[in-house]
Amino acid sequence: MSRIPEVEAALRPDLRGRTAYGAPQLDVAVQLNTNESSYPVPGEVIADALDRLRTDLEGLNRYPDREFSSLRAALADYLAMQSGVRLSPAQLWAGNGSNEVLQHLVQAFGGPGRTAIGFTPAYSMHPIIAETLGTRWVDGQRHAESFDLDVDSAAEQVRACDPDLVLLCSPNNPTGTALPFAAIETVLAAAPRAIVVVDEAYAEFARPGTRSALELLGDHHRLVVTRTMSKAFTLAGARLGYLAAHPDLVDALRLVRLPYHLSTPTQAVAEVALRHAPALLATVDAIKAERDRLVEELAAMGLRPVPSDANFVLFGGLADAAETWEALLAAGVLVRDIGIPGHLRVTAGTPEETSRFLEAMGDLVPEHL
Ligand code: PMP
Repeated sequence: MSRIPEVEAALRPDLRGRTAYGAPQLDVAVQLNTNESSYPVPGEVIADALDRLRTDLEGLNRYPDREFSSLRAALADYLAMQSGVRLSPAQLWAGNGSNEVLQHLVQAFGGPGRTAIGFTPAYSMHPIIAETLGTRWVDGQRHAESFDLDVDSAAEQVRACDPDLVLLCSPNNPTGTALPFAAIETVLAAAPRAIVVVDEAYAEFARPGTRSALELLGDHHRLVVTRTMSKAFTLAGARLGYLAAHPDLVDALRLVRLPYHLSTPTQAVAEVALRHAPALLATVDAIKAERDRLVEELAAMGLRPVPSDANFVLFGGLADAAETWEALLAAGVLVRDIGIPGHLRVTAGTPEETSRFLEAMGDLVPEHL
């Protein structure tokens, strides 16, 4: 999009010429492009949320609880149940999606004159959040073919730029794989003054045996683990992301957040959802089964899926990813072209959606290989 000269000239020089981030939101029958859950929120959760909102809406003349204290306690209880790691409410922080908590982290620990590093391909908002807040971004690299992050290479790349912030992603979007646990400790040692963030947006979908970086929080006070209710909790529209860290690190985020950033309805819906965690997470196993089916059936078609710990699968082996993306769209299936040559990313949906995608893909091979 081109902007009128007055606006372009007034814009911060480092933002000129940039285009905004965003996957297309198209009205297509099968939407498998943004790693949302395809399952609606269960009726029992809606009923409880409506009850709670009926009371809370009356009080909307007042600002919300600025410290979202009861939500923090509920998040701590959920993490104890999900990961076995017991944290205090003072170690929890939340925002409007984990994108906002990542922004708070960069506001507090990055910024002009500071450096952040991540390992590409990873979540594309990491460099955008860093750079739009004036932080220098170092594009660290993963293995070009397997997309694995070699522990020694990560340590070397981190040492070479002496960062203020390291942004890791496990399970990694868009590749799907979780990081080896040792990588996090190695990176912490290689960046002796940095805040090390592990973005665990997809943690609930990890294969058995995957350990959460939450286990390391007790020993590492510069470590932050971010999570979200947008994926496994089927609540992308509620906008609730959170993080866990040392209480002093969390307290520092109060310097940069806007007051009352979490609305009363947001806090209410999130608390009700956490009370219903087992019901909301009941679809996780079904989604994992579809993910594994995607890996298996795409490989059988001669494509190259990357093993996944998330609710999506990255696959390679396409002659022209943009052309396949268009052909899938014409067949009523929306997936994501994340800009890796020959690759597309598809979210694991319901069994029916997965079948629709696999059938459409099956019609395109071998011509698209
Ligand atoms: N981290 C990762 C790795 C993601 O893939 C996403 C969503 N695509 C987010 C964070 C942000 O999610 P939200 O703001 O909805 O919590």
